Amino acid sequence: MKILRELRSEDNTFKYLVGLDDRNSVEALYMHDREQRLTYHSTVCVSSQVGCAMGCRFCATGKEGFVRNLTTDEILGQVDICDNGRHRAGRPPIDAVVFAGMGEPLLNYPTVITSIERIREERDLCHFELATVGVVPRIYDLARYLKKGSIHMRLNLSLHAPTDEKRLALIPFTKKYGVHDILDAAAAFAEVTKSKTRIRYMLMRGINDTDEDIDALIGLLRGRPLKLIISRYNDNNIKNLRPINQLEILDFHNKIKDSIDCDLFHNFGGAIQGGCGQLRQLAQDAHG
Ligand code: SF4
Repeated sequence: MKILRELRSEDNTFKYLVGLDDRNSVEALYMHDREQRLTYHSTVCVSSQVGCAMGCRFCATGKEGFVRNLTTDEILGQVDICDNGRHRAGRPPIDAVVFAGMGEPLLNYPTVITSIERIREERDLCHFELATVGVVPRIYDLARYLKKGSIHMRLNLSLHAPTDEKRLALIPFTKKYGVHDILDAAAAFAEVTKSKTRIRYMLMRGINDTDEDIDALIGLLRGRPLKLIISRYNDNNIKNLRPINQLEILDFHNKIKDSIDCDLFHNFGGAIQGGCGQLRQLAQDAHG
């Protein structure tokens, strides 16, 4: 494995395009939250697959389709690269590893679990996060796995739309598991881990930002162990998908925050193609 490209942003995010031995590449990120807005202040975000089968409409990785699962060594190699980079730059040691890079980690489940166990053993780290679009049976498996051990994991579920119909247009996997199924799994996970599952909601103009969407979200989430995290869509130049501005995001947040637990997401590394798959896509464009 080797670093093909490294980008650094002013907010202390280092992003790496990592070349694999078979000439594929994935992205890994080191983020240092100097202002301590997040629970973990120094985290590494790793990829779990080359490409992704989920085909989410808003995602640069999803456009390319699935190539292959990563191995445990390839996942640990990304942690090593980020750790070496942060060490050279004099940034604080890693306190959590996040599976939210390229790929759907729950479709490479056994390897992700082995990687977590090796990171725990070799680095003495026990804090993890995982982002999924909602592979329902694996969410229950993960909850059962965590019940047995001393690993702490926070789950981030990418919802992005409050109805099956709207979500299907953004995330084709909704055909397999609908909004209610995935939120039931997210709530069950939260009961086991005693920590609210984070429901990610990326605002896109005219797609999921209306007052009806707010009412539907409140109906879905109120009274459940779930926390809505509102974020801005990272513009990937995808037809008919546009971001909304910061004032509109604040307005959406203000309208919903008294009814359900919710917060705004800080978009680390946005200025350095921080969105999943953007750096890899740029490199491919540059190299034809
Ligand atoms: S958002 Fe995640 S699950 Fe969806 S296509 Fe991109 S990498 Fe895959």
